[in-house]
Amino acid sequence: MTNIRRITTDSVLQKLGAIHTPPRTFLHWDTPFHLLMATILSAQCTDKMVNRLSPKLFEKYRTPEDLAHAKIEELQRDIHSCGHFRVKAKYLKSASAMLLEKFVGEVPGTMEELLMLPGVGRKTAAVILYAVFKKNDGIAVDTHVFRVARRLGLSKGKTQARIERDLMEQTPRAQWGRLHTLLIVHGRTICTARNRKCSTCMFREECPSSLVRSKKDLAHDARTKIPRKTRR
Ligand code: SF4
Repeated sequence: MTNIRRITTDSVLQKLGAIHTPPRTFLHWDTPFHLLMATILSAQCTDKMVNRLSPKLFEKYRTPEDLAHAKIEELQRDIHSCGHFRVKAKYLKSASAMLLEKFVGEVPGTMEELLMLPGVGRKTAAVILYAVFKKNDGIAVDTHVFRVARRLGLSKGKTQARIERDLMEQTPRAQWGRLHTLLIVHGRTICTARNRKCSTCMFREECPSSLVRSKKDLAHDARTKIPRKTRR
């Protein structure tokens, strides 16, 4: 029986890192406040859609004051195409109000403080901390990271929290953000949700979900609920 080596996050970092240099976040932003807006909007919506909308939104809502005082119906119309617009409009307004009230209008730079903001969960906070503050305080597990980590056998977790913990345990802290962005690139280009391009994938020989080796897809499990697009 052939002995197949288990894939490690180290080999993922090395192999994917050799061919990709992804940005710190795939969302467009110019100020930390605008990245906060964009990450709240990106919950269960694609980055592409948010990026399409953001130039107009950033122009109209430049500061937390602008958003905190925005008319809710108008804001809902402005972000309608991102889905879940009622709840997102509420989060945007109340997060902006909290920035003004507690953080002198600035986006805070710790996980604990970011998690106080309405609409901000660990994933959003980890993205902001990595992109704005260059801090590795978590691994944002979006739909791509969730799927690819399971397929590669890096985690058997069935929740975002479990997968994040597994990935953090195996990876030097300084590489957490980079691992997140590399897994996203791989999930968008090769290991896509609908069409795994295993025959051209650099992990095809060792990956436990490789179509070259079997028909198994470890991303799917009767009890596993893959997050839709990106949740907070
Ligand atoms: S071999 Fe297939 S399933 Fe495994 S990472 Fe590559 S594309 Fe994904």
